[in-house]
Amino acid sequence: MSCYKGKYHDELVANAAYIGSPGKGILAADESTGTIGKRLSSINVENVESNRRALRELLFCTPGALQYLSGVILFEETLYQKTASGKPFVEVLNEGGVLPGIKVDKGTVELPGTNGETTTQGLDGLAQRCQEYYKAGARFAKWRAVLKIGLNEPSELAIHENANGLARYAIICQQNGLVPIVEPEILVDGPHDIDRCADVTERVLAACYKALNDHHVLLEGTLLKPNMVTPGSEAKKVAPEVIAEYTVRALQRTMPAAVPAVVFLSGGQSEEEATLNLNAMNKLQVKRPWRLSFSFGRALQQSTLKSWAGKEENVGKARAAFLARCKANSEATLGTYKGGAALSEGASESLHVKDYKY
Ligand code: 13P
Repeated sequence: MSCYKGKYHDELVANAAYIGSPGKGILAADESTGTIGKRLSSINVENVESNRRALRELLFCTPGALQYLSGVILFEETLYQKTASGKPFVEVLNEGGVLPGIKVDKGTVELPGTNGETTTQGLDGLAQRCQEYYKAGARFAKWRAVLKIGLNEPSELAIHENANGLARYAIICQQNGLVPIVEPEILVDGPHDIDRCADVTERVLAACYKALNDHHVLLEGTLLKPNMVTPGSEAKKVAPEVIAEYTVRALQRTMPAAVPAVVFLSGGQSEEEATLNLNAMNKLQVKRPWRLSFSFGRALQQSTLKSWAGKEENVGKARAAFLARCKANSEATLGTYKGGAALSEGASESLHVKDYKY
């Protein structure tokens, strides 16, 4: 098989491995303008450029936080923004040893003839956009495909269409110097049990890796961003140890050892749940050829957002909350988290939103 061997080969391999460094993970701060608007409205803050910038500055400039991160995923607007004192965010991240990443998909549209299943848009012009983002300092990218569990879902059509889209995206990113994060998110929505989630996750991941291989993607220069294997949102919860065992087994069955790291999404789990689940996975004494880390959006920002509430006088308190979550998740990548970071307001609250859109 001839996978990507072009001019970015070594850089892609090095950057993907770096993102998976022990004790580090990704902050997903790539909410589109619409999505960040929902977050801001939950704390009664207006969705304007200056407020979006202020929130991102609060996060990226939290003293001590960047040591726990290897990457931050940005939305296009943020890639070109600066701190209040005029320093580009990209520079702030680079100085902190953090690689800037960029969301490159353009959201989902419905697949006609299915029961509300979707495909992700954004392949047109993607190569050119990747080139511009690389010039602006981005070194990795994210594309989110969404699948759902129902009586007859995910359909074969949705599985194959989304796997193929992820593979096309991945190879285009590599040709233009960006490490692709492959994100096939299976939504937690529904009454299904954990066995059903495991079965669907295994089928979806197997299809994704078949497509990535067919498209000659260099697996060493990619990362996987999957859901954890859990019961549906309307089913009874299970312990972190159970989630850990099911999730790692699904990965063992489907995920090539060539991929350096898995960076989980939080998918509506509370901050504390997401951290405990990741920690339990890293405590398992089983075969695990890839690093297991985080690429959390909601589970890294919720308590920070609540503490901030858009007020300058709360920035210190909000930063303390963010630092606590970053440190807790860093420990979880090593399996050494002892609990107790859930003291901030909002840390144990479920962040599940039905049919969540980015
Ligand atoms: P959550 O961790 O909030 O699910 O978001 C991660 C992400 O980037 C989804 O695409």
